[in-house]
Amino acid sequence: MSRAHRRNCRHFAAQFRDGFAHDSGQSHSVGAPSSARLDARRAEDGAPTSAGDVAIDTRRAMTPSAEQDLRWMRHALALAERAAGEGEVPVGAIVVRDGDVLGEGWNRPIAAQDPTAHAEIQALRAAAQRAGNYRLPGAELYVTLEPCAMCAGAIVHARIARVIYGAADPKGGACGSVFDLLPSDSRFNHRTECTGGVFAQVAGALLREFFAAKRAKS
Ligand SMILES: [Zn+2]
Repeated sequence: MSRAHRRNCRHFAAQFRDGFAHDSGQSHSVGAPSSARLDARRAEDGAPTSAGDVAIDTRRAMTPSAEQDLRWMRHALALAERAAGEGEVPVGAIVVRDGDVLGEGWNRPIAAQDPTAHAEIQALRAAAQRAGNYRLPGAELYVTLEPCAMCAGAIVHARIARVIYGAADPKGGACGSVFDLLPSDSRFNHRTECTGGVFAQVAGALLREFFAAKRAKS
């Protein structure tokens, strides 16, 4: 994990120190995917979660913005499951501004025959259409997997204020795992903040489950 990545994650980790399974760099070594997902769903329903993968029993320790992050990331995770259902790598994204979902996206490069059809790009396009503006100042983008270099560039072009991602991507992540594009450095003409590790275990489990099923078929 790079220095930048650690730095970005530290703030979020502190908010979840006693309960939330913060996992910015270990998302590919977690427990049973199905139970992790179940816990996320239970959490969404407000029911108590098991003391395991995604324990959300320390809400007292969370700031309102951290609770918001969990809420929106659950939404993005549901879109990632949709991608998996369509045979695409399970990544989901949403753009949120002022408490509203401006745009949703899930990975579709295979179906769309489009190498740019990553979840983030889909969500940015939908949000820009809805806003009537390709610039989305003040908006936040939630995505279940650390953005790649292409998406990091699009995020900065869209003037997104903050990116919140789930699992780290050690193969192509541009928030410190491989490239250090986000948070954007001073060479960009716009500053985008970045928070990693939100529901990283659930997001990572979805991906692992997807690739395991794919391997089993081949
Ligand atoms: Zn991407």
